[in-house]
Amino acid sequence: MYAINHAATALLLRKKESKLPLLPLLVSVQLVEILWVLFNYLGWEHFSISDGRVHLDYLPYSHSILSGVVAAALAFCVINWGYNNRKLAVAFAIGVLSHVVIDMVFHEKDIRLSPFSATPVLGFGIIDYPVLNFIIEFVYGIFCWWYFKGSKALLWVIIVFNIIDLPIMLAHGATLTPFMHYPFLLPSVILFQILITWYFVYRYANLKGAHRQTAIS
Ligand SMILES: [Zn+2]
Repeated sequence: MYAINHAATALLLRKKESKLPLLPLLVSVQLVEILWVLFNYLGWEHFSISDGRVHLDYLPYSHSILSGVVAAALAFCVINWGYNNRKLAVAFAIGVLSHVVIDMVFHEKDIRLSPFSATPVLGFGIIDYPVLNFIIEFVYGIFCWWYFKGSKALLWVIIVFNIIDLPIMLAHGATLTPFMHYPFLLPSVILFQILITWYFVYRYANLKGAHRQTAIS
C-alpha cells in the first residue's frame, strides 16, 4: 500500500479515539516503513528489479509479523508506562500492526513470519495487478476520509495523492532503470512520500477542527 493510504489509516484510529493527537497516529501507521527506509540505507534490507518490476526481496526486520508485534508491544509499553496514556498506547500499537497487515494484502509473497524464518510466506500480491491495486487503495482512502468525516480539502489530498501513485503503480521496464543504478533512490522517494503525505493529511485533517470551531463561534 502506498503512503497516502497508510496515512489515511491514522484517520480511522483518530476517529475512534477522537481526543487522541493525530501526529503520533500518523507516525504509528508508518513506523514499519520508516524502519524499511532506514534498513535499506544501512544495507540490512534490499530490493531488486527484475522482469521490469520492483521486488521487495529482503525485508525480514522491518516487515515480518514478529517484528510488527514486537514494535507494537514496545510502543505500547513506552506510551502506556512512560507517558501514562493507555488510549494512545493501544491506538499506536494498532497503527503499527495495521501496516504489516495491510502490506500482507498488497505485497508479493515477501513477508516472513519472523526475521528468523528461512523464506517469506505471506503476501496476497495485489501489487501485481496495478489497476486493481489502484482501485482498492483509492476506495480505501476515500472510506477512511468518510469515516473520519474529514474536510473537502482532505478529500482532495487523498484523491490527488492516489492519482499521483497510479503512474508509479504502472511503472515497469526501462522506467525503473534509475532505481537499479542508484539503490538509495527508491527508499528516498518512499521517505519523501511518507513525509509529504504526513504533512498534508495532518494539515488538512486538522482543518476540520478549525472549521468546526468557526461554526460554533
Ligand atoms: Zn510497508
